[in-house]
Amino acid sequence: MPNGGPDNCGTCAWNRTGGDRTQGGRCELRGVSITVPFWTYCNNWEGWRDKVPDKMPAIKGPVYSSGIFEGYYTRIPWCGDNEPQTYKPGICSVTGVKFNEGISVVDNETNDTLFFATNDIYCNWLKGRKGGSQVAKPIRKKSSGDEALHGIYTEIFHKGALCCDFMHVGVDKPLKGNLDEDLGPSGKRWLEDKVRGAILCGAIGDAIGRQMEGRLPGTCAPATWYAPWHGWQSGPVGTITDDTQMTWWLAESLLTNGRLVPDDLAKRFTREHIRGIGQATRQFVGNYKDKKLPWYEAGVASSGNGAAMRASPVGIFFRNDFDELKLAAGMQAMVTHNDPMAIASSIVMAYAVAMLLRINVNQLSDLGQKTLFCRDLADAIAGIEGGGQYVTRKDGQPSTLASRIRDDIPRFLDEKQLPAQVQEEFWSGAYVLESLPFALYCFLFSPGHFDRVIYNAVNESVDSDTVAAMAGTFCGALNGLHRNMDRQYWQKVKTDSDRDLFAITDMKTDADYLGELEFREELTGLADRMLDNCWRDPKPE
Ligand SMILES: [Mg+2]
Repeated sequence: MPNGGPDNCGTCAWNRTGGDRTQGGRCELRGVSITVPFWTYCNNWEGWRDKVPDKMPAIKGPVYSSGIFEGYYTRIPWCGDNEPQTYKPGICSVTGVKFNEGISVVDNETNDTLFFATNDIYCNWLKGRKGGSQVAKPIRKKSSGDEALHGIYTEIFHKGALCCDFMHVGVDKPLKGNLDEDLGPSGKRWLEDKVRGAILCGAIGDAIGRQMEGRLPGTCAPATWYAPWHGWQSGPVGTITDDTQMTWWLAESLLTNGRLVPDDLAKRFTREHIRGIGQATRQFVGNYKDKKLPWYEAGVASSGNGAAMRASPVGIFFRNDFDELKLAAGMQAMVTHNDPMAIASSIVMAYAVAMLLRINVNQLSDLGQKTLFCRDLADAIAGIEGGGQYVTRKDGQPSTLASRIRDDIPRFLDEKQLPAQVQEEFWSGAYVLESLPFALYCFLFSPGHFDRVIYNAVNESVDSDTVAAMAGTFCGALNGLHRNMDRQYWQKVKTDSDRDLFAITDMKTDADYLGELEFREELTGLADRMLDNCWRDPKPE
């Protein structure tokens, strides 16, 4: 049986070989030679006849090839009558990167031979031609983007170093409007407060959650305030851990370089002591610092939550460009966690922050709004995690972040499940399939109520500092720092969950979260620099 579908030249009546049509031939209708009939197609297919029809029809569209490039069942059009060929190794005419296996094709307009590192680059180039001779260039929707990082992506993909081709799956989710251009002075203050909220409320969650890390919910008295850590003498009791450290270093790397530079990030991650370091990150440090592996070989195949917990600066920095956000989020994850789910988790975290910077709590208060928010997040990572490769720890069932976010969270919200009940389903350890959806649930359960978000994230979870850091980040990006510190605001905001399930707070009532937070001034300064220095496309079209 022919591979890749029956409608190929090997079965087509127009293929006049004089004998066996499966062994190459020539298309009578188009006048082109056919080298691999089972992998060549067109819309004029006339199948399984012994005689060519009397009437010659009009040509319908291009000839397509498949199966000889990456993505074997994807059909790619010929360039006029010229068939693309595999080529190895070469230098991509569009991106300039070296590839080990790619495509060569003769341009039917200039007769130049061009080279493409991937099917996708070739197809975009072909689509972008508007007749006449053109210089080959990448075809991108509105901008040229970070060509250096796109080039690195292609290069490491073809080296086999990247665990999945995440940029070519998932739904493109354009971020509505340019946040910075649309804002007046009061709008800028609003955004400033939200950016500060994303950074500082994440740090507060990290610092309060630290004391509960690794403890099963319900096995000790709930934490309602910071606890001094073992090295604490007289400084602020709100001591942050790796979640905030690595968020900070990622932010500094973006600000210093004006874009994501993976090797710079790897250097920053290996310079200083990391507090409460996770397993995968520890292994990465060993690979990069001690074994001297290049950054793209130092990341570990781990679906831990270390990539997601630090991803908020990507969402803030690339708040106006989804494509660049997705690329940077995936690449920053890969530095330490070279795993499809970890990459997806970083994209979810960054994209959620970029969306939350755009809305207020009234746009995330009822079930319908929360469901749409979850769908948007799941769409952005659809397909990245593959099928069936991840299972739950609880019962070994196949699951993905995308399915938990798209299906389970809205269902549990609809059923008005308490976070403690959802934790029983999701669990909340360092496996990002557990901790990220649970953090998202704690946030969506009471999005306007910072106190409640932190209480649930800290006390109903196992990896408490990371869950609370992520939930605090979401809550900070939505409400802003100022409002999250305002108890009267919490009382005013009423969402579905608030109304039905609780009326009081359980945290320390006179707590000054911000005043006792370690590095609060440095982190505030960091947030303000991120407000002023977001990604701007170098060559917008
Ligand atoms: Mg930590």
